[in-house]
Amino acid sequence: MIATQSEFQVLIECGICCDYLTDVRETPCCHQLFCLTCIQSWLRTFAPNCPRCRSTTLTEQTLITNIAIQQFIENIQFNCPNKLQGCSAKIPRSDLIHHKQTCSYTPEKLKYQREQKLFELRLQLQQYSNAKARTRYKDNELYDLAKVFHEEHGYDEARQCLKMIKGMQNVFNITILSAQIEQDDGQYDKALELYTDVYLKAKTNPQRIELRLASGHIYL
Ligand SMILES: [Zn+2]
Ligand SMILES: [Zn+2]
Ligand SMILES: [Zn+2]
Repeated sequence: MIATQSEFQVLIECGICCDYLTDVRETPCCHQLFCLTCIQSWLRTFAPNCPRCRSTTLTEQTLITNIAIQQFIENIQFNCPNKLQGCSAKIPRSDLIHHKQTCSYTPEKLKYQREQKLFELRLQLQQYSNAKARTRYKDNELYDLAKVFHEEHGYDEARQCLKMIKGMQNVFNITILSAQIEQDDGQYDKALELYTDVYLKAKTNPQRIELRLASGHIYL
């Protein structure tokens, strides 16, 4: 017989809290596994019987320590709960709580990092908008800054950067970026207008294809 992943999951999950077992205890009546604290609070506050088979022979004293499963769980490498946010750490169960506290991909830390980054970018933008300094900066620097603001969802600042660009060399890319900014900021009519405009100006097929890809679900 081959155990599927969900069957395997059930084996190492507590029947009460549905989280991975901690301090594993086995019931002598039906050999079900629970965390010590979970089964204790069940017996003390909920019912003096087994949560699975209802046997009243089960007491705190008759619970069996299951060292094999406990060690097995402690040695499994878990994905960090912030994996989707970019943390690639594989963590043994025993380090999970510590890792959660120190992981640099928690929503709070990411939010803080983003705010810091936006703060620094805004300082940069201030320098760029300073009239005296403007001549020192090149259009491509403003374009790159607009791109970073866009990635960080600083749409107003991204628009500001693009407005300051004077040259006309990069109009195609600038208009695509403007359209993407409007699209991501929910301004679909403006985005569509910009996409249509640049589509008409597109001179080559690769440009047109790039445009189709950039515009995504907005219909040209
Ligand atoms: Zn539990
Ligand atoms: Zn039982
Ligand atoms: Zn992590």
